[in-house]
Amino acid sequence: MLKPLGWEPVEAGVRVVLDPRESIELADEDGSIAALLTLLAEGRHDLEGLFHTLSPAFPAVSREDVRDAIEALDELRLLEDSDQTADLTEDERLRHFSNLAFLRTFSTLEASAETMVRRVRDSHVLVLGVGGLGSNVLQNLCGLGVGRLTLVDRDDVEQRNFARQFVYRAQDIGRSKVERAADWVREFDPRIEVQTIRADFAGPADVAEVLASTRPDAVSAGVDDPIGIDEWVNAACVRAGVPYVRGGMTVTEGVIWSVHPGHSACLACPPDSDDSSGRVVNSALHQQGVARINRGAGPVATLLGSLVSFEILRFLTGFTAPRYAGAMAVLDLAGDCGLTINARSRQPDCLVCGSDLQAPEPEAVTAVAAGG
Ligand SMILES: [Zn+2]
Repeated sequence: MLKPLGWEPVEAGVRVVLDPRESIELADEDGSIAALLTLLAEGRHDLEGLFHTLSPAFPAVSREDVRDAIEALDELRLLEDSDQTADLTEDERLRHFSNLAFLRTFSTLEASAETMVRRVRDSHVLVLGVGGLGSNVLQNLCGLGVGRLTLVDRDDVEQRNFARQFVYRAQDIGRSKVERAADWVREFDPRIEVQTIRADFAGPADVAEVLASTRPDAVSAGVDDPIGIDEWVNAACVRAGVPYVRGGMTVTEGVIWSVHPGHSACLACPPDSDDSSGRVVNSALHQQGVARINRGAGPVATLLGSLVSFEILRFLTGFTAPRYAGAMAVLDLAGDCGLTINARSRQPDCLVCGSDLQAPEPEAVTAVAAGG
């Protein structure tokens, strides 16, 4: 089937517009492509049916020509497989109306929008920290319909969280964040399975243990303390082969990066000689001796939470390749909120993701208590 799109004949061809930012011109000397598009817009067909319908008017068109044309249209992401679009329930279709509509722009015959929604539904995301970043990521992941969530945090809800953490209510002050955030998830969508771990990470083994016990498909990393936590998360995720996405901020810059283990650079990869992103890491994450002031006001936290969730959606569905994998994306909060991407190369001599890595046995957990 042709996706819902506009097309019109132009000189010796057809102009197709799926996305207003891009118009595609297809050569069509004999009008057979226009005829093919008309058939595909009318409804479902298989290759043999298309060939037989087109043959009387276009005897020169072979089965191979039809197959090649379908492949070319699919490469342009103009087609969807009607067999795959039918297998969500009507209830799921309504629940995911906008998710399906967005993902349909990127779907192919191999991966329909419905397939991608099912991948999200069948996924388990570990949310490390349900504070300024994580609570905003959490709301987006629930909207996307991630089927299973594990929430990790050590803190209670405090008055100062209310500038940017919108899953909490005034009456929650003094309650455990993970418990209250899990309640929010259950109230929002009872179909989402949620578990909580009230944890205090004292060392890399604690993070590795949470990864080993929960075995998520992706990780949202939004824990700021203690110093070294980002290196621990990086090492644990790389060794477990689980992608993670981190968001944070300096003073007037938002920072987002992700790591696709085995594919992208990791946080520990030695920087390229002309790499300036080390400055960002240093200033964002290693302010030893400086009292850390959280400047993540609501719009900042929601922006970063959205971008982190969007990157997680890329990892879970493959609708596009992860955009920040092995890259340091910097968001200009003092300007127009534009993003600058500082790509880094994976380094074979990296102590964490390098080719000669020997994964160590996880050490005993020292300060992690699991619950509910
Ligand atoms: Zn590395």
